Amino acid sequence: ILRGSGFLINTNEILNKYNIRLTKTLGQNFLTDANIIRKITDAGELSEKDLVVEVGPGIGALTVNLAQKAGRVIAVEIDKKLIPALEETTGGFDNVTLVNADVLKVDIYGLIDGWHGNVKVISNLPYYVTTPIIMMFLEGNYPIERMVLMVQKEVAQRMTAKPGTKDYGALSVGIQAAGIPKILFSVSRNCFIPKPEVDSAVVRVIITDEYRKRISDRKIFHECVKAAFSQRRKTLVNSLGNSPFFKIDKEMVKDMLSALNLKEQVRGEELSVEQFILLSNMVAEKIR
Ligand code: SAM
Repeated sequence: ILRGSGFLINTNEILNKYNIRLTKTLGQNFLTDANIIRKITDAGELSEKDLVVEVGPGIGALTVNLAQKAGRVIAVEIDKKLIPALEETTGGFDNVTLVNADVLKVDIYGLIDGWHGNVKVISNLPYYVTTPIIMMFLEGNYPIERMVLMVQKEVAQRMTAKPGTKDYGALSVGIQAAGIPKILFSVSRNCFIPKPEVDSAVVRVIITDEYRKRISDRKIFHECVKAAFSQRRKTLVNSLGNSPFFKIDKEMVKDMLSALNLKEQVRGEELSVEQFILLSNMVAEKIR
């Protein structure tokens, strides 16, 4: 069905035709609302110069709309049984590449290699694995310009949370160190087949070098952040001092905190992104 400037795939018809039973454990809630699909596509601000990496195309409802606007779409879908349907729905586009793989195991560099324009990650994410997928894109050094992600509403709030609030955690710091997140709009559970048990929101993250260029070792930065939030009630001295990632003694952590003018009892949730960067740079220097 062609509506306005976008395509609306008839989800039920495709599911019936290919005899597809959706798998709840793979986070298969498919978008059926043309307006939401258009708004996600618009948030990509796509042109011919853009390569879109789409995680979990499902049966292609979003994919075909992205393909109309982008130079190329690489759609990574874990579920083999969806591929024949996807081949049909995206068949009219010569700029769509379907990859049947787990996005967490795929070689992202291999997918985007040779592309000279922008790379944009656009996805209605499978909710059971949201954080690992986001962190994989952030921790790698991929030349991504932005991410437009549909996530559970609570996750959207964590992505944009400020220090000292209950939602502030490793995901907030990870995202905010890599870019500028913004909640664009919320999405009702009625926009999906089947209806999920949670409400959703679409978040755009424009990736910037602002903070990243000051992080001396990105791996150690992410390890410090994870250690700091692994046990929320613990002070940083205890959580970094007992980190599974690196060996550093508590006295050293105390010296670092004092050099940053932070009190000895400070907890991870009180530190700004800026302070996490300074602290992790000190840790990197000590353990190198
Ligand atoms: N993009 C479609 C839409 O918006 O209607 C489907 C979105 S659905 C929320 C998530 C999709 O991600 C499902 O098709 C699911 O099979 C796929 N998926 C789940 N885990 C995945 C993984 N690790 N790698 C790639 N795709 C995955």
